[in-house]
Amino acid sequence: MVEERYKKHVGKCFDCEGTTELIEMDVQRGTKIMQCQNCGLFHFYKKDFLGGWKLLRVARTDKI
Ligand SMILES: [Zn+2]
Repeated sequence: MVEERYKKHVGKCFDCEGTTELIEMDVQRGTKIMQCQNCGLFHFYKKDFLGGWKLLRVARTDKI
């Protein structure tokens, strides 16, 4: 079990520039889902080669 500091997974909403917070992370697949605290938009991220997070897409639902 890898422990991550959730605080560092804070970003900006693609749509309204509100604060996004981590709601789900899959360490094995290297993916995470963030949700905007303002408008509720979901942001799907994937880990890149350098260990950073790349935004894959945004959606109004958390179903992939
Ligand atoms: Zn938003």
